[in-house]
Amino acid sequence: MNYNKKTVKDIDVKGRKVLLRCDFNVPQDKATGAITDDKRIRAALPTIQYLLDQGAAVIACSHLGKPEPSFDKWAKKQAEKGKDPASLTKEKWEKTLEALCMEPVAKRLGELLGRDVVLAGDVVGPDAQAKAAALQPGEIMLLQNTRFEKGETKNDPELAKAMAGLAGADGVYVSDAFGAVHRAHASTAGVAAYLPAVSGFLIEKELEIMGGALADPKRPLVAILGGSKVSSKIGVINHLLDIADMIIIGGGMAYTFAKAQGGSVGTSLLESDWLDYCNEMIAKAKEKGVKLLLPVDTLCAKEFSAEAEPVLHDTMAIPGDMMGMDIGPKTIEAFSAAIQGAGTVIWNGPMGVFEFANFAGGTRAIAQALAGTDAITIIGGGDSAAAVAQMGFADKMTHISTGGGASLEFLEGKELPGVACLLDQ
Ligand code: ADP
Ligand code: MG
Repeated sequence: MNYNKKTVKDIDVKGRKVLLRCDFNVPQDKATGAITDDKRIRAALPTIQYLLDQGAAVIACSHLGKPEPSFDKWAKKQAEKGKDPASLTKEKWEKTLEALCMEPVAKRLGELLGRDVVLAGDVVGPDAQAKAAALQPGEIMLLQNTRFEKGETKNDPELAKAMAGLAGADGVYVSDAFGAVHRAHASTAGVAAYLPAVSGFLIEKELEIMGGALADPKRPLVAILGGSKVSSKIGVINHLLDIADMIIIGGGMAYTFAKAQGGSVGTSLLESDWLDYCNEMIAKAKEKGVKLLLPVDTLCAKEFSAEAEPVLHDTMAIPGDMMGMDIGPKTIEAFSAAIQGAGTVIWNGPMGVFEFANFAGGTRAIAQALAGTDAITIIGGGDSAAAVAQMGFADKMTHISTGGGASLEFLEGKELPGVACLLDQ
């Protein structure tokens, strides 16, 4: 995959209309619709401000949540969930769409930019067309939720063409929605067939740092993998075995590895279907000369709860009535020492159940070790990023990827449709 893509700096946008795909998929309060965290809107400001300063007219767009644009499909899904078919009215469905309108986003974006943000009542309909046609250089508008259009998630070429058409014959497409680049949708990839396409600053940084670490890392490259399941990280483990010098495994997935190696793991998270796979990975690491570090001691608990009392056991000998919840002190020491020698560290997946204070110590210790090294440190994955931020180490890392699913697919070495569609440097 080529990570060397043209950016907004490589193209003249003065006097042109720019269709800008952002990731404004913000969390909202269920009852009031108020935005509970505007981090994603703030993250888009540098690219928006740059485009406006350059004299572009900005037509911003994003999806928000998961609206179901077809009433019939919505009713069918609700019925499958056991809802009473008589209660599934058009009015109810419309309410679900209303709740995912872009009004709060437009309002917040306007406050942050200190200027008016014109909101279109549709995505490519008459209102969006009229407002886009009237938009002047230095002005910004926002389209309605792109997922209100049935063609969005199907990457329908007609929809993509209509969206591109809003920017006119001299239009430009700028993508800055890293959180959505792993999806081939009309607004994230399809439009690039009809407009010259470049990245904004957010995607530029992701490609430069994550892409750089995968393509040409400062060595040794140490990958730390954790989280809950082996099965959700297979692609990541597999790809990193091809490029890393060392792989460290922690979190819930470590117990499937321990069991595969003949250990007793009690009631720990275990994926029996993946035991052979774990042994294959251990063999592949040996064959490739990649050092593989597994936990040697584990903080265990009788039940999965915040109040459970932590008890230390060897990872290979967890009692039958206990489950592994976090890495132990010997493991923390070994993992931290390995991190000290790294040139680059890529970390995905917490080392334990960090949501419970009693079992957050392993994740905190690893975050601290990363914060203290001179190595390039990259955090990928939604929960890992949340853990690092919550523990106060965010500004000590070289880069925290902004996309959960997208950063995982990036680490899997997969082609990202929203990146592949951009012009090469
Ligand atoms: P990311 O979002 O960073 O990719 P994952 O979603 O794979 O990470 O995993 C995060 C989850 O893994 C957390 O909710 C954490 O509680 C869980 N986890 C970590 N260690 C364990 C464990 N030993 N047992 C059960 N769950 C665990
Ligand atoms: Mg997660």
